[in-house]
Parts: sequence; C-alpha cells; structure tokens
Amino acid sequence: MLVDAHTHIEQKDLLVFQTMLKDKKLEAIVSSRTKEEYQYHKEFLKKEWVEGQVKFSFGIHPWDAGKVEVEELLHIFKEADIIGEIGMDSYWTENPLGIQEKYFIKQLELAEHLQKPVVLHTKGQEKKIAEIIKLFKGRKLVHWYDCPLYVEDYIKEDCFFSINLDCEKNNNAKTLIKKVPIERLLLETDGIISIKWLLENQLKDDIKELSFDTSLMLMKNTLKSIAEIKNISVEKCENQMYENYSLFIGKK
Ligand SMILES: [Zn+2]
Repeated sequence: MLVDAHTHIEQKDLLVFQTMLKDKKLEAIVSSRTKEEYQYHKEFLKKEWVEGQVKFSFGIHPWDAGKVEVEELLHIFKEADIIGEIGMDSYWTENPLGIQEKYFIKQLELAEHLQKPVVLHTKGQEKKIAEIIKLFKGRKLVHWYDCPLYVEDYIKEDCFFSINLDCEKNNNAKTLIKKVPIERLLLETDGIISIKWLLENQLKDDIKELSFDTSLMLMKNTLKSIAEIKNISVEKCENQMYENYSLFIGKK
C-alpha cells in the first residue's frame, strides 16, 4: 500500500480523494492549518470506510505563526493524531522568525506533552531546527527536506524523512535518499497545489494534466527512483515504507 506521508487536501478535492481511499489506492497523513480545514477533513474523511486509512495532522504553520493563539486550538491539538506541519521558514515567508520560533517551540512542547509525533517544515532554517529538536522527545518527520547540509544531525535525532516527487531532478533529494537509512524514508506529495508548482517549475515537460491519478503515478515513479538508489525491489521499498509509516504513527 502506498502512503502519502504529508498532503494537504483542498475542500473542493475531498470527494475525489475520498474515492481514492475507498478504492484502497493509498493511505495518507492529511494536514490542516486551520480549525475550519481540520473540521471539513474530519467530516469528509472520517467516514467508516476511510477510517484507518487517514491520519489527521494539525498544526500552526510557520507562515501563520502569530495569527492565532495555540491555546484557542488546544482541543484540536488534543484530538489530532499528529502535530504538524510546524517549524520555521525564512524562504517562502517574511513572517518574523522570532514569532515563528515561539510558536514552533510551543507546539513542540505540546506534542511532547501529548505524546504525539510531529511533522517538520524546515525551509531555510535547517540548522536552527536541527538544534531545537534535540530538546524534545518523540517521533519526528522532516517533510520535503531540501538542503545539502545538516542531514547527519537529523539522522542522529532518528528523524523520518518524506521524499517529495521531485527527487529525480533534485540533487538534495538524491543525496538525502542515499544518506538516510531505508527504515526512515517515506513518500509525500504535499498536496495538489505543490504538485502544480512542481509541474510548472521542475517537471513541466513530463506531465500535461493534473489529477489525483497523476499524483499516484508520480508517487509510483518516485518510489521506483528510491528503490533504484537503495538497490532494492520496488515491492520491498513499498513494504518497508509502509512499515516506516506504521512506526511513525505508532500503529504497532
Ligand atoms: Zn505541507
């Protein structure tokens, strides 16, 4: 079974996504950034037949730090399976880093207290985040890590890494796959908006139209690339990733 370890599903896409789950095409960790988003994810995806195939992740994204109070959302943090994505970003946002750090630490404390795994967003702040996470216990997933440095620091912290769909054309991703043990690798799409961005930027010649089937196909291609780099069969790679996912979410 394929697992999308980090995705965002827009409201308009929920029915199609629901069908993919129903057809047993994948399992996923679905992230929400607002309480409204969390509620409609719950409503559409926690039906009897998708239960178990979806884990819900909730966190105040670094881009939103300062816009809402952590305390106001405590009930959701308590209910969600995973805390994230949380972290810091000095590349895609001008949100002040001091505020981002405050929110990041607050949510890490909360995750440790609630004994929930976290999903980390590290863009441009890889060094700082590698330092901060040393202070907190619990399972950590680094999503779409795109930096040639500090990989060893994260490996030392026993982090999981979710590889995005650009790994064929992204040298940082290739290096990451080589360095990280297969027992800590996962796959992710980061949702349709990110796939669209990738298609328009790095993969533009490869794909003409965009749908969840395209995203599945790209995930399978990525799985194949990882299996090749790790010199194992695609089937073994897929099974290992499912085991990694189960371990990350605490399924067994
Ligand atoms: Zn994301």
